[in-house]
Amino acid sequence: MTTYADPVPGGRAGDGEKAERLADDLAAAEVQGVVMSWVDTCGVNRVKTVPVSRLASAARWGVGMSPVFDLFLADDSIVTGELQGGPDGDLRLVPDLDQLVPLAGQPGWAWAPVDRMTQDGTMHGGCSRSVLRRLVAAAEEQGLAFKASIEIEFALGRGDVPWPAFEPACLGSAYGMTRLVEQTDFCADALEALSAQGVDVDQIHPEYAAGQYEVSVGALDPVGAADRSVLVRQTLRAVAQRHGLRISFAPSVVAGGVGNGGHLHVSAWRDGANLHSTGEGRYGMTDDGEAFAAGVLDALPALAAITTPSPASYLRLQPSHWAGIYACWGHETRESALRVVTGMVGNRERAANLEVKCADLAANPYLLIAGVLAAGLDGIGRALTLPEEITGDPAGLDPAEAEKRGVRLVPTSLPEAIETFAASPLPKAAYGDLVVDAVLAVRRGEAARCEGLDPDAVADAYRWVY
Ligand code: GLU
Ligand code: MG
Repeated sequence: MTTYADPVPGGRAGDGEKAERLADDLAAAEVQGVVMSWVDTCGVNRVKTVPVSRLASAARWGVGMSPVFDLFLADDSIVTGELQGGPDGDLRLVPDLDQLVPLAGQPGWAWAPVDRMTQDGTMHGGCSRSVLRRLVAAAEEQGLAFKASIEIEFALGRGDVPWPAFEPACLGSAYGMTRLVEQTDFCADALEALSAQGVDVDQIHPEYAAGQYEVSVGALDPVGAADRSVLVRQTLRAVAQRHGLRISFAPSVVAGGVGNGGHLHVSAWRDGANLHSTGEGRYGMTDDGEAFAAGVLDALPALAAITTPSPASYLRLQPSHWAGIYACWGHETRESALRVVTGMVGNRERAANLEVKCADLAANPYLLIAGVLAAGLDGIGRALTLPEEITGDPAGLDPAEAEKRGVRLVPTSLPEAIETFAASPLPKAAYGDLVVDAVLAVRRGEAARCEGLDPDAVADAYRWVY
């Protein structure tokens, strides 16, 4: 279970006592420290840690961290927004004890995602996890619930080559048995560690690009799914390091090649019924299911600064790379940014969902899911309908036909994404002023940092950040 209550000074009801019990259990299991983790605006997982003896204090009063981390770029330089930035102020990181888990890949450590609270005991407006928590809680009051999961693609590089170079740690074919054999111990240890942490893995398999693999995991509630995306990545990183490997979740590991996606699967539910499979519409969509999908489709260009936030994201977004560069929808069409997944006959009521394919793993997963849910809810609010679906690769359509069928490209550069984000009312409504201010400042900072760099230099700069 994920905690959906706001943190309060002195701790959420019962959390202090629960943390004391947990600390005893952790100490008995030889866990020394607890990682308190959150994701910043540019998509980096930042942490503070406490010894287990301080866990109860952290649950009651939080642990201090400066708000300026919302303005960090991927190279740790700091920018200033219109509303924030600079050395002033302090926030309290409050762990979600329900998500606390001993880290199988890092013996001696446990991990918990945090919400960030002000010293006055109110939610920090820039806390992406809290933004998502509140959005989901508000939708629940309208009778809507969601499931989500983020696919995780990554490349394994040899650990013995000079940084920041990348040499794939395997040479076997895409999806090939040879490639699985080459990293058999890593893959088995990753499965073991994830299982020990209660993560139900759907699949692990060799992917297309050099050194690339993918892990997909079961769907959870939205905040739990975002937490899980963070946890799975750091677990894979820890296991990779123990095997002498370097792991990259960067959108583009090698410029010009197929990149790492972070496809988001999401479904909306009312009264226990899946809105994407229990209706009379196309592919079993209910009216609300279609409106939700149409809202997401409509907002994809505006959300590009969230779904594809890094300069390296735009090296990955290429036609015919299955990266979802076309803002259109299709049934099981892997080139469309919005893929309607129906699943197998007999299992559709449970399995049907929407896949947002353009997203990558530089995205802050809380902002990613919050943005997509807000867009879907907006679609329901406006009773939107979907245009005609696309089949095949839209790259094959001549421009006039593409225009007639409403096929647009998602933004293909970070400056274009920033402009589209800034011009849309959706981000402010979904995230609030502080998040929007931080996103604009950070994205502009990243774009300025990369101005004039060639694609190889951009790939080098972000390869080992995510
Ligand atoms: N690697 C592709 C991407 O950049 C996705 C491939 C797939 O559909 O699994 O998103
Ligand atoms: Mg894949």
